[in-house]
Amino acid sequence: MLDQRLVEADATDLDGLRKILAEQPEAEKLCPIGMKKIEIDHGAAAHVADAVRTLTTGTRVLMVSDATDILDVKGEKVKERVKALLDEKYTVEWLVIREEGGLVHCTPENAAKIQALLPEADCVVGVGSGTICDLCKYATYYADKEHPKALVVVQTALSVNAFSDNSSVMLFSGVKRTVHSRYPAVLLIDLDIVGAAPAEMNVSGYGDLIATWTAPVDWYLANVLGMNDRFHTAPSDMIRTQCRRLLKNSEKLAAGDAKTLGELANVLTLSGLSMGLANESSPASGSEHVMSHLIDMSSKVRHTGICYHGTQVAVSGIISCLLWDYLLHEFRPQDVQIDTCYPSEEEMKPRVLQAFDWLDEDHSAANECWSDYQKKLARWHEVQPQFEAFLKNFDAFKSQVADWVQPPAYIAECMHKANAPCRYSKLNYPVDAKTVRWAITNCHMMRNRFSIIDLLHFTGIWSDDFVEGILKKAEALDAGL
Ligand SMILES: [Zn+2]
Repeated sequence: MLDQRLVEADATDLDGLRKILAEQPEAEKLCPIGMKKIEIDHGAAAHVADAVRTLTTGTRVLMVSDATDILDVKGEKVKERVKALLDEKYTVEWLVIREEGGLVHCTPENAAKIQALLPEADCVVGVGSGTICDLCKYATYYADKEHPKALVVVQTALSVNAFSDNSSVMLFSGVKRTVHSRYPAVLLIDLDIVGAAPAEMNVSGYGDLIATWTAPVDWYLANVLGMNDRFHTAPSDMIRTQCRRLLKNSEKLAAGDAKTLGELANVLTLSGLSMGLANESSPASGSEHVMSHLIDMSSKVRHTGICYHGTQVAVSGIISCLLWDYLLHEFRPQDVQIDTCYPSEEEMKPRVLQAFDWLDEDHSAANECWSDYQKKLARWHEVQPQFEAFLKNFDAFKSQVADWVQPPAYIAECMHKANAPCRYSKLNYPVDAKTVRWAITNCHMMRNRFSIIDLLHFTGIWSDDFVEGILKKAEALDAGL
């Protein structure tokens, strides 16, 4: 039986949430939520100085942002206002992170700019969207893991779920990697600020949540196959019902309905917490995210910008929904020839290197991907008994996950209603068909995490023709390329 209190969880009641989680079966598997306060409300940003005061008795604040102008619903400049509010009580240094070309990336180089100023600060206040938040979390954590500087984040758009978790998605040698970092101590989501964010940014947050219908099932699949040990139902139970409601309200979101935006803020924040509870991004990042990561990784070589994260994830989410639809309705476990499911390192290494070699001159991306994939391949060879049991008990697996997935046609229909792009060619930086095919076909070779695509690959189903068939099915939903 689902715990109704968990199903209707409120991200702003952290103590209440902690109590509910502690009462779940196997609660010891869930990691503590390392946050002090989450506020989701109209005017929440006005409490920024109070938030700092709850964290430090010091007087020096380092405010971090990028150079983009952000206005709230009244047309007031958000960063300047936050700075003025802090100035009343603190000595504030404002670091504006800039990069050639305008777009700021989550790189160790940008984190170093924050770290250089940390000795002079008692508290860091990040003002911005996902990139600034991830940089602040990473910079403070890796400067002092034991006692990272206090961190307040003023979230300026509902663009991703990563504000309320303890990891950062960083770009190392051009490869996207999710690394452990820390939670912000206080997260302020001012509905008067996020409500004025460009519609496509909030649609991006909605899109990040499309992963709710594929990532948790990837995680569960990995667990059943012995490829992941941490699976727990609570992180996804906490958001699934609210995500379902959000899908129903897709049209309202497109219309900018304030109540729906508030609901999006709550479930997006819970989705971030779900990753922290699992101590890994698996509850919210499966095959759909890897496809998206590959497209991001290729953007430099293609001389294009990086699309809104969640929007791109959602387009990939339709593809992943189609894969799950295939597995649950067309996959025939009795046809699997077990002894053909174990490619050797000698077989896989050249394939992985070849897939990623075009991304840079010094092969660092390809080597990075192989070093991670190698671990997954080694473990896959070790868990054959679990794989055999999975094939034998496939019907039980199907009924367990039946309620955790959504029909691809329904997801595409909701995304159309939300005005979310359903095609890669319709993203804010359109992605060409060749790159999309490359990303989908090779994404399982990028990282250590097991997803449905690894299963399809090891069972010999995954091929260029198979991917073409999936793209054809997507086309019928006015989605895909
Ligand atoms: Zn995401």
